[in-house]
Amino acid sequence: MTVVTRFPPSPTGFMHVGNARTAIFNWLYARNKGGKFVVRIEDTDRKRHSEEAVAAIMDGLKWLGLDYDGEVLSQFAQRDRHTGVAEEMIAKGQAYYCYCSPEELNDMREKARAEGQKTFYDRRWRDADPTTAPADVKPVVRIKAPLEGQTTIKDKVQGEVSVANDQLDDFIILRSDGTPTYMLSVVVDDHDMGITHIIRGDDHLNNTFRQKVIFDAMGWDVPEFAHAPLIHGADGGKFSKRHGAQSIQEFREMGYLPEALLNYLLRLGWSHGDDEIIPRDKAIEWFNLENIGKAPSKFDFAKLDSLNAHYINESSAEELITQALPFYKERHGMALNDLGKQRITQGIDELKSRAKTLLQFVDESVFYAKSIPLQFDEKALKNLDGAEDILRALKTSFEAADTLDADKVQEICKAIAAEHMNGKLGKVAMPLRAALTGTTVSPSIFHAAEIFGSDEVCNRIQAALDR
Ligand code: GLU
Repeated sequence: MTVVTRFPPSPTGFMHVGNARTAIFNWLYARNKGGKFVVRIEDTDRKRHSEEAVAAIMDGLKWLGLDYDGEVLSQFAQRDRHTGVAEEMIAKGQAYYCYCSPEELNDMREKARAEGQKTFYDRRWRDADPTTAPADVKPVVRIKAPLEGQTTIKDKVQGEVSVANDQLDDFIILRSDGTPTYMLSVVVDDHDMGITHIIRGDDHLNNTFRQKVIFDAMGWDVPEFAHAPLIHGADGGKFSKRHGAQSIQEFREMGYLPEALLNYLLRLGWSHGDDEIIPRDKAIEWFNLENIGKAPSKFDFAKLDSLNAHYINESSAEELITQALPFYKERHGMALNDLGKQRITQGIDELKSRAKTLLQFVDESVFYAKSIPLQFDEKALKNLDGAEDILRALKTSFEAADTLDADKVQEICKAIAAEHMNGKLGKVAMPLRAALTGTTVSPSIFHAAEIFGSDEVCNRIQAALDR
């Protein structure tokens, strides 16, 4: 049997991390089994539908590196097939028209509430004589759910879960306007797409019993299910915007690498012993359904940061620069030129080891790419004020030096500190840092000076003096 998993997002305009984790699990399972991972857009809500919302999902998948098999399917495009299945069920006596008015339904709902019943529809049209149907009412179609016994799901995460069948309504599969409901569309699509494994959030567990009723009514194979607990915030509530961020897009904008988020979301709810660092290839090799955790997991930004730092460190200069390019533009209004790239590449080891996010990487490396005159930030200006003698002395010594490597720069700074500043190296290094970077936070300024070379260093010092 070829394993076929699916990712069926409702296009909401962004990809929630919970959905992303579902996609990751399904993708990993398919790749682990040499199976297929298919994408279906659940776009039946036409009022809210937009192509941008679909694009946001596809963009999220691409960014996470989750490739899919075949064409992306539109659920809306399958509506005739869904209606056809409902009609087939009516013909076979497994579904029926229900002509209840909103008032009647309301009465039933109130009665059920008063009696503490979970379901309310009293099945009055289930076996009614069709000739008694009112001519002026457009009926809905309801499924004949089993009345006795129980429906049991053998879930790969939750274990065996059952519900008494009298708790299952004769739920609606076609609305009165003839459109199929989510419950029907999902099952028909899952069947038609040959889905063998459904891995999703446990907020869908209740739907699963109803979906099984449809599978059974049609005599279709029921896929395997794995319902993973949802992701929670540190306070225990469902993970959302108020916890700092909720969508893949936001994490991307915060400077997280896709590899880090993939690793993090995987570990959040699945484990392989005590392994924390699980790169993509290992994830594919090791992933299984048995090790999906049973308890809801709490999103922990500190852990994500430490994984991000790890993957930043593992990346090559080229990879990092490519990922970071949009941020140079967004945050500093500049495109990286070749000289900037070259200098950043030379300083990459230190830049990488300092950065927890791409934003930090960009902010601490952009000075390499800027041209003079620099814009000095407030703190840098404080370091420059009154440091004119130091800067002039530095420039004179740098000009006189034959070579300017990091050791030499440090040696010169020390000598000047000894002469002018009671040996306090910081009093020399800070104005130098301000002059070269425009800020007070940067990698080793001695090393940066080496990367710039003597001419650029002296030009920057002069520009700081001339500001
Ligand atoms: N479209 C549903 C959602 O985004 C998923 C349905 C399913 O997994 O069956 O929650």
